Amino acid sequence: MRPVERGDIPTDAKGQSKQYNQYNQAQPDLISRIGEYCSYCERPIKTNLAVEHIQSKNSQPQLELSWNNFLLACTNCNSTKSTKVRDDITQSYYYWPSLDNTFRVFVYKPSGMIEINSALKAFAYAKAQKTLKLTGLDRHPNTLNKPSPKDKRWLHRQEAWDLAYLAKTQLAQNNNPKMRNFIVMNAKIQGLWSIWMTVFHDDFDMLNRLIQAFPGTCCLCFDSNGQPVHGLRGEL
Ligand SMILES: [Zn+2]
Repeated sequence: MRPVERGDIPTDAKGQSKQYNQYNQAQPDLISRIGEYCSYCERPIKTNLAVEHIQSKNSQPQLELSWNNFLLACTNCNSTKSTKVRDDITQSYYYWPSLDNTFRVFVYKPSGMIEINSALKAFAYAKAQKTLKLTGLDRHPNTLNKPSPKDKRWLHRQEAWDLAYLAKTQLAQNNNPKMRNFIVMNAKIQGLWSIWMTVFHDDFDMLNRLIQAFPGTCCLCFDSNGQPVHGLRGEL
C-alpha cells in the first residue's frame, strides 16, 4: 500500500483554509495531492473515485468534513470497509497509508496475492491482518477468502505485475533514461505503485523515479536508495 502525504488543508483564492460544505467537494483537491488512485488497492480510478473517511462519518460525524480524515477509495475498497467499520474502531487499530509506512506492511506476489510482511513483529503483524480484513485486499481465487465477481482487485494486481515484469525485461535490453521515463509513464497509467516498486526492488534509480512520479507519495518513508524507512507513527 503506497504511503501518502495529503499535506495541509488546501487554501482558497484568498489564502484561507478551505471549508467543505460536503465531503465530495474535497475530491479534486485530494486527486491533485495524492493522485487519481484508490488509497488502498492503488488502482487508477477515472470514475467513481470516492472521498473516503478513515474514521466513519456515521460513528464520527464531527470528522465528516475533516481534511485529515480523507483518503480516496474505489467502490470495492469503500464498500468492503464500510461493512466492517464498527463504532468503536479507531485509527490505532489499523495501518493507514496517510499515517504509516504501509509499503512495509504487505508483500505483493506475481499471482496478484497480497501477504503480510513476515519480518513484522507480532503486534504489527496482527495489525496488518486487521488492515487486510478491513479492506478485503487479500481476496483471491486461490485462497479461501474468495472475491466476488465484481471484485477484480487481485486480477488488476496480476496484470500490473505482468506488465512491470515485461518492462523490466525490456529495460535490461535497452537501458537508458528515455526507456526509464517511458516505463514510469506507463506505471502511472497502470497504477498499482507497490507492484512496480516490488518488481523494480533492486533498481534504486527506478525506485526513486516511481516515488517521485506518483503524486503525494510519502518521500520521508524512503531513504535515498528508495528503501522503506519507518513511517510517521514510527511503528513499522
Ligand atoms: Zn480500492
